[in-house]
Amino acid sequence: MSATDTIVALSTPPGRSGIGVVRLTGSSALELTRALLSDSDFSPEPNRASLKAILDPESGEILDRAVLTYFKSPQSYTGEDVVELSCHGSPPLLMRVVDSLLSLGARPAEPGEFTMRALSNGRLNLTQAEAVRDLIDARTHTAVRQAARQLGGELSARLQPVKDSLLEIIVPLESSLEFVEDDLPPDMTEGIVRKLSALSDKLEELAETFRQGRLLKEGLRVTLVGRPNVGKSSLFNSLISYERAIVTEIPGTTRDTLSEVINIDGVPVLITDTAGVRASTDRIEQLGIERTRRAVTDADLTVIVLDGSQTLTAEDKKIFDEASDNYLLIAVNKSDLEDFSVNNACSLANGQPIISISARNGDGLDELRAAIMEPFSTHQAYENSFVITSARHYDLLKRAGDSLRSTESLFSDSASEELVLAKLYEALRFLGEITGETTPEDVLSEIFSSFCIGK
Ligand code: GDP
Repeated sequence: MSATDTIVALSTPPGRSGIGVVRLTGSSALELTRALLSDSDFSPEPNRASLKAILDPESGEILDRAVLTYFKSPQSYTGEDVVELSCHGSPPLLMRVVDSLLSLGARPAEPGEFTMRALSNGRLNLTQAEAVRDLIDARTHTAVRQAARQLGGELSARLQPVKDSLLEIIVPLESSLEFVEDDLPPDMTEGIVRKLSALSDKLEELAETFRQGRLLKEGLRVTLVGRPNVGKSSLFNSLISYERAIVTEIPGTTRDTLSEVINIDGVPVLITDTAGVRASTDRIEQLGIERTRRAVTDADLTVIVLDGSQTLTAEDKKIFDEASDNYLLIAVNKSDLEDFSVNNACSLANGQPIISISARNGDGLDELRAAIMEPFSTHQAYENSFVITSARHYDLLKRAGDSLRSTESLFSDSASEELVLAKLYEALRFLGEITGETTPEDVLSEIFSSFCIGK
């Protein structure tokens, strides 16, 4: 990617919409836009919208009347000259506007290239750039809130004092290397060890928030299993709140797996309804059963659905045995029926939670949702605390923490200050990789390749 050329992209999703935004960034952004206007010396006031006719640069034909906004370098998203054309959201029109700009010399933007430029021009640090992507990809309000906090610079602000403290330790160590022949005095060493241990605790604590942060980003996979007719499809429908799975009284109706994302406590939960697990000679049903097994293996948690109005069968036991490597929950369905009982479930369970539900009238569903989240939630509430949501950040925080932790044994083995310093610089480098100062090029390219085009 060259940072001097002018790039163009449609920044709104392809497809019909009220408005479609074509965006340009680079030193020729304004000049190229002028070639689409009737007044070729138009000089827009920065940050002010103007309604302009957009012409085909070759034929002069009017394509649209659009709102043009000019953001002058360096006060723009990318730090370069940026022009946004808010056209009417017609796909062929937008394609024509983009094509015209390409024919005039703009280059199609690569995924995340606008944000990449913002990063290179110091408008954002890397954690903020990643937050832009996370905000766009967020699937729940809670994920939006966390991404917005990171975009506001919260992660980098939390890391800055750690970096500052490390530098405060590095400076006297460096000078003791230069000026003092003897070892550091023991009280100074003790002080440094204490400070480093506190810093690595801090990094560790932040890293551990990824346990919840991962859920916000990646969500939770929950699979419903059970023998035919226990009410899996009915439960699935109740959980997703509309009739998607076909509910019938003929065993084996749900032949494939159906999945839908629901929001529980801000976490996107992918619920999968599976084919009835039972011995079957029907080829299609057998394929469905294989998929069920895969859905159980892939799940973070399996809900075994039993029919509380019927006695336990060998099939119920088999399903339980096959699933029990996972986090398990037993949902005993049909609590609205007179002959309902949880006794069978109790004889099956091995300490797993048992929840009585009625997929028909909705009883127990709140308890079921809470029980689904239970193994994954911690005491911290998402609402108020900041969590990291990126595996990359988690890994680097852990590595920085480990580097600091390893200095303890270096000090107790009276290793040279050079070795200690090398570990401290290593920790600083890991922290710098989080915020972008020391991130290798290939890692940057990989991060930006996961962005959408036009951002
Ligand atoms: P699946 O084969 O496990 O997916 O079961 P279905 O969801 O297709 O349900 C099988 C039958 O049980 C249907 O007749 C449902 O109406 C009935 N059923 C499901 N849930 C309940 C419930 O909570 N109470 C009662 N009384 N019947 C239910």
